[in-house]
Amino acid sequence: MPQVSRRVSHFTESVIRRMTRIANSFNAINLSQGFPDFDPPREIIDALHKAADSDRHQYAITWGAPQFRKALAQKVSRFMGLPIEADSNMVVTCGSTEAMIASMLAVCNPGEKVIVFSPFYENYGADAILSGAEPIYVPLHPPEFSFDPRELRRAFEQKPKALILCNPSNPSGKVFSRSELEVIASLAKEFDTFVITDEVYEHIVYEPAQHIYFASLPGMFERTISCSSLSKTYSITGWRLGYVIGSPAVIDAIRKVHDFLTVGAAAPLQEAAVSALNFPDSYYKELLSIYARKRDVFLGALESAGLKFSKPQGAYYVLVDISEFGCGDDNYFCEWMAQNAGVAAVPGSSFFREPVKNYIRLHFAKKEETLLRAGERLQMLRGIWKSKGK
Ligand code: GLN
Repeated sequence: MPQVSRRVSHFTESVIRRMTRIANSFNAINLSQGFPDFDPPREIIDALHKAADSDRHQYAITWGAPQFRKALAQKVSRFMGLPIEADSNMVVTCGSTEAMIASMLAVCNPGEKVIVFSPFYENYGADAILSGAEPIYVPLHPPEFSFDPRELRRAFEQKPKALILCNPSNPSGKVFSRSELEVIASLAKEFDTFVITDEVYEHIVYEPAQHIYFASLPGMFERTISCSSLSKTYSITGWRLGYVIGSPAVIDAIRKVHDFLTVGAAAPLQEAAVSALNFPDSYYKELLSIYARKRDVFLGALESAGLKFSKPQGAYYVLVDISEFGCGDDNYFCEWMAQNAGVAAVPGSSFFREPVKNYIRLHFAKKEETLLRAGERLQMLRGIWKSKGK
């Protein structure tokens, strides 16, 4: 039999999606794959009904339906504080997952290096392999998940083509401060490197932390490829609507990759999502207060269960330190926990380059009642673990 390509043999299936399947098989509360168990705003669903009755059922323009790009340009310009043009600064993609891979394919030649902070969202490893780039991992040191500027400089000295910046960060919940971003910016300038951002949690940043768009730093727009999506901001992860913002030359290259990868994002969904992009500022304030409340409820539940964790400054994930269980195998621990405690988490090792096995990642993008139920189950975690004779 012919063999499948070496490219695919270099990575395994997504651990996050595998945990969702395990959660479903044990009927566990799924706090592994990060997506809401509540509905998007009513206006968006109404707009989807309207779109279904419209004539938008054929391909949209490959880089995005004009009315979607117009609304997106207004929204992004408002939040980034930069004049973003619908016609020259953007590509609409199938989720930010496609935005990231299309960006990497567009800027990296095989063998070129890309800096990835570790822990990192698992897709970046596969993106690097698919685009032939070679990752240079730079550790983010717990508990603050900050980088050592000397380690970062050493990575830049290897002349990378790009740095990937997930801010707010999945899985650590880190939000990069202005001074940290300035260190990255000055190195990117000195070594003439692109910065590809993943900012899908841009609107979920808890006070006093503040989201700063890398592209908005002085002189950085030209070398920044900003990826984001509508998934988390409007609770529509299944719509797969993402985008890339950048300078016209880079966008032109990404458009070509995108065109041949997917042709385009779903036309009726782009039509319906215009309603979301036109929401006023109050929507984003409300979204943040909903998540801030969920974070308080869930961290409170973790605290009463006596679990150790790093408090996230942004996004909706929390890394829980399971050292005290003396397990040594976070994959085993997560499967055991889904089956025996009825709560599913992602093994932390899938996010780290280093051999770190003492974290599990839980998310709190769930209804309060779901979080409270999960909290009750987690209260019993230690007892169930001990009773298994460990
Ligand atoms: N970004 C989400 C997470 O980290 C969902 C991942 C996915 O399955 N695309 O859990």
